[in-house]
Amino acid sequence: SGQHGDFDTIAAIVTPLALGDQPGAVAIVRLSGPKTVDMVRKIFKPFRRKDTQGGESMEWHPESHKVEYGKIVDASGALVDEVIMVPMLAPRSYTREDVIEIQCHGGQVPVRRVLNTCLEAGARLAKPGEFTLRAFLNGRLDLSQAEGIADLINARTTQAAESALSTMQRGLSSFVTSLRAECIDLLVEMEARLDFDEELPPFDVPALIERIHTISQRLQKALATAQRGRLLQAGMRVAIIGRPNVGKSSLLNAWSNSDRAIVTNIPGTTRDVVEAAVSVGGIPVYLLDTAGIRDTADAVEKIGVERSKDAAAGADVVVMVVSAADGWTERDDVILSHVWGASSSGSARKSLSGPMSVGGVGPRTEGKGPVTEEWSHASDERPAVRSLSDGASEPYTQTATEKSASQVRQTSPADQNTERDPSSSTDSAREPAGSASNGAPHERLQTARISGPPAILVVNKVDRAPESQVAVPDSWRQVFARRIATCARDGVGLVELERALLEIVGAGEATAEGISWAVNQRQAEQLVRASEALQRLVASIEDDLPIDFWTVDVREAALALGQISGDDVTEEVLDGIFSRFCIGK
Ligand code: GDP
Ligand code: ZN
Repeated sequence: SGQHGDFDTIAAIVTPLALGDQPGAVAIVRLSGPKTVDMVRKIFKPFRRKDTQGGESMEWHPESHKVEYGKIVDASGALVDEVIMVPMLAPRSYTREDVIEIQCHGGQVPVRRVLNTCLEAGARLAKPGEFTLRAFLNGRLDLSQAEGIADLINARTTQAAESALSTMQRGLSSFVTSLRAECIDLLVEMEARLDFDEELPPFDVPALIERIHTISQRLQKALATAQRGRLLQAGMRVAIIGRPNVGKSSLLNAWSNSDRAIVTNIPGTTRDVVEAAVSVGGIPVYLLDTAGIRDTADAVEKIGVERSKDAAAGADVVVMVVSAADGWTERDDVILSHVWGASSSGSARKSLSGPMSVGGVGPRTEGKGPVTEEWSHASDERPAVRSLSDGASEPYTQTATEKSASQVRQTSPADQNTERDPSSSTDSAREPAGSASNGAPHERLQTARISGPPAILVVNKVDRAPESQVAVPDSWRQVFARRIATCARDGVGLVELERALLEIVGAGEATAEGISWAVNQRQAEQLVRASEALQRLVASIEDDLPIDFWTVDVREAALALGQISGDDVTEEVLDGIFSRFCIGK
């Protein structure tokens, strides 16, 4: 790219306007662009100690990376603020343009006045992410590094920040760049054989396929980070449900009043009541409580059915608490049948991070969660995004396998009779011998569970009665992916609960490969696209198709990887990425 000369000069406040209720002590207004120095010269008067001329009238000649103290004045010469100027002249700046950061007094009024003075001097208000966009366009950063910066700013746990830093340090970039270079090497070799057919030896096909396999395997390694990446960024919501007095609040308190709770506030976009935020394996986990159920005359409301339903509807994982002291009760049945029974709450789900929203990209969790008609059908309306070979986003639609699976659920008499029969449970230990022979409902059910929140059964108060006291009716067993014994009062069982949670959402195998970065959904889609192109390439080679056909697929793979690094990227994609930044970054 090199330096783009045709940019205008932009300005923005780059610090928050308030930290909580308090204004910051210092705020920063940043300018970037070719006219930065000219504009600042109009409004900045340095105080110089030994200035015989009475320095204020002197024209300012900034020296890069040398701070200067002085005052900002408006066009009429009136004092706006006393400031410190930090000039960072091209190319030694974030954007590689002339950048000046004005450190003024914090608080809304002074910082806005300083910004306005810059705008009056001719600067344009920067758009969200525009400084970083310029850094990218001027070759200072590649695209995944730029995305890493946004992720770092938005990180809510230490681990999320570390993952973003690893991306900024070119962890993902160098991985992707080397894969792309290998694809381009392949392309060059293929095209050479198209052009100089006679002179070059034919391809060693097995060796070629081996090379492609190696690239594919590395693509898969990168893809394996997607689920963790998504969870690190978006976090997950865990609804704690159950009838009164089983220990839900005690569990929540034990969980959040520990040093695990280092998650910062959930962004203001959500309207759900988040009772507590904890960090589980670095993933921000938002605990939704159904506590505070009042006594009402309404028997259903009394046991918290509606609250449980609402909480479960917004959750990625449901934790159902029962009490070992009471065993399984009818009220537990009622709650379960409302949450997993016939209801219309499925379409209202607005999960931050349903297990499948990376669509076939992250590690799947099927076979571990509930399998019910309710949730299978809910998937019809759910706007999750699938991995797409064309790199675009479109609303989730059922795949053929999923369709046939839900049809089986609707039409098979065997299935209807054994709605929640343990024989169709995914827990093979409980599965009666020989049940697998009646067709493959077992297999189909695993595929069918695509969008229901997986559930964990927590058997609490194990200090009062043995855990085995709770006998889950056969009809409910398959709802629970895990069963954990706790004594919430003493904080016993929390470690196991957290481990189960991570396993269920597929975040367990995180850093196995020694990779500390994680790809985001956009990047994952391009990795899938590259991987599919390479699969087609192998098929074309094995089918002995002409080399022209091979080049189409290799080029596609290289293009997809170029969308991650930003080497081949459209303006639309850039707009999408940078509009998610805040103003001033
Ligand atoms: P919730 O209504 O489900 O939120 O239940 P609470 O958390 O308010 O707990 C109800 C009662 O059970 C309280 O008196 C708790 O102290 C008690 N409790 C909670 N967990 C335990 C436990 O693990 N063991 C024992 N013995 N009591 C518990
Ligand atoms: Zn409670």
